Amino acid sequence: MTLLPQKKTNSPQSEPLNLASFDDRAAITAHIRQLCPYLDDEDMTISATRGHKNMALARLSEIDPENYGKTRNHIGGKVTRLSPYIRHGVLSLADIRDVIMSKVKIRDGEKLIQQMAWREYWQRLYRVNPEIIWQDAEDYKTGFSAQDYADDLPEDIAKGRTGVSCIDAFIGELLEQGTMHNHARLYVAAYICHWRRIKWQAGARFFLSHLLDGDPASNNLSWQWVASTFSHKPYYYNLENVQTFSPDTLDTSQENNAVLMGTYEEVYVRLFPNLPTPE
Ligand SMILES: Cc1cc2nc3c(=O)[nH]c(=O)nc-3n(C[C@H](O)[C@H](O)[C@H](O)COP(=O)(O)OP(=O)(O)OC[C@H]3O[C@@H](n4cnc5c(N)ncnc54)[C@H](O)[C@@H]3O)c2cc1C
Repeated sequence: MTLLPQKKTNSPQSEPLNLASFDDRAAITAHIRQLCPYLDDEDMTISATRGHKNMALARLSEIDPENYGKTRNHIGGKVTRLSPYIRHGVLSLADIRDVIMSKVKIRDGEKLIQQMAWREYWQRLYRVNPEIIWQDAEDYKTGFSAQDYADDLPEDIAKGRTGVSCIDAFIGELLEQGTMHNHARLYVAAYICHWRRIKWQAGARFFLSHLLDGDPASNNLSWQWVASTFSHKPYYYNLENVQTFSPDTLDTSQENNAVLMGTYEEVYVRLFPNLPTPE
């Protein structure tokens, strides 16, 4: 969208938005509200993620590759939060690799470099096989076929009001901040595909319309990996796993997350009743 600061011109269509002409973020918000009166308060939440190369470089200087390897699966772990800058071309993977190598020995930076390699891998797959971005790469390995899955995302998921407390908190962050930790993405994607039996494409569309790092290759191929249309088995989890990797501030109580409860075997049998019981 092309937006103009009204204080500089009366002709909103004539020049692109110049952020520097606003005194602060509140002034930008007020301007956007004026241009888009149909947006309600929920739509007007401004993400804490800030644009600009300086912001990206500041965040890059703070990365902690050694602790990244040890804590990255924890929702409050030392992840870089660089993905929006990578996605929009503000930082390259080579920029980040150079900073990693300047901070630690290759052995201690390995995990972070590996994760960036996943991004590159998805990009290359997309380039070679553009058709698998929206089509099932393979059949589901869940004991169900594609027609057993719903086409559309129900409103309770789209609004983050499923009644499953941790899932709603993760979706809330997506809606308000445009971000979500990798482990939370896995939890929410599996909840949508396997607990609710909705096509991964509906979930992928939902994520892409809110993520600041929304990227068809990383997003859709990760969704297919969770769904099992691009992996040999479905990804699933149980409440105990969420409790292990979540901070105390997240409500992971049994009473508010009942559908996620059970041993791995119990959850598996519940989600995939047509598959043989795992040994
Ligand atoms: C269902 C699902 C949807 C996803 N959708 C997107 C998306 O739209 N855009 C996107 O950039 N990533 C996506 N990812 C991958 C990953 O969740 C994000 O890249 C990561 O959470 C971004 O946070 P970060 O920058 O703190 O990552 P860090 O953990 O600090 O990793 C550093 C960088 O490595 C890359 N990276 C890390 N993990 C992965 C991964 N599993 N796959 C691909 N690249 C990775 C990213 O560029 C990331 O910025 C998705 C994952 C899942 C499971």
